[in-house]
Amino acid sequence: MTPRPALTEEQRWLLRAMGGWAIRDCLLGPDGVAHLMQSQWGGSGRRLPGGPEWLAYGFDCGRGKIVTGRFGGGADRDPVVTITTAQLNRYARSLPRAVTDELREVRRAWNAEYIYGRRDWCHCGHEDECQDGRHHPTDDEIDNHYRELRRIKEWEGRALDRALGFVEVDETPVFVEVDESTELVGQLALFAVAS
Ligand SMILES: [Zn+2]
Repeated sequence: MTPRPALTEEQRWLLRAMGGWAIRDCLLGPDGVAHLMQSQWGGSGRRLPGGPEWLAYGFDCGRGKIVTGRFGGGADRDPVVTITTAQLNRYARSLPRAVTDELREVRRAWNAEYIYGRRDWCHCGHEDECQDGRHHPTDDEIDNHYRELRRIKEWEGRALDRALGFVEVDETPVFVEVDESTELVGQLALFAVAS
């Protein structure tokens, strides 16, 4: 697999457990990292299949680093893992082009679908009297919208798996569907073989 020396496997587990658009944007450049650090985002953590137990301790972002947290009965616990702004930026710069292209495509697709549902639709529930002028979506259109948002979120998860080294990436284009049944455990096994 492509060598990515800037982050250890434990650090990458932490980023994968945090996940979502904030980590996606961190991997797309320093603006995302700066935003994360000033966001003071903290979470109670979530275990992932095959992931370390300390993911359940949660995490906190700020003062130029991400640290594993204080949840799970250890308010004074020392961080198990720390990731600095510089490490995160260095890792983002090391990513193959195919990986960052995919993350960027995920962001574009999410923003377009999200804005479509928020900007172009009126959700007043009183179409007959409504002066809004926007489209009043049918139940099917609303279902399709949320299904599409879920599809993009799942795609984002797979793109993060690739970006964080849990799935091997070659330099060929990655705009292909990965088998939905592939579990993170299986992907970690792949990673273990590769490293
Ligand atoms: Zn309306």
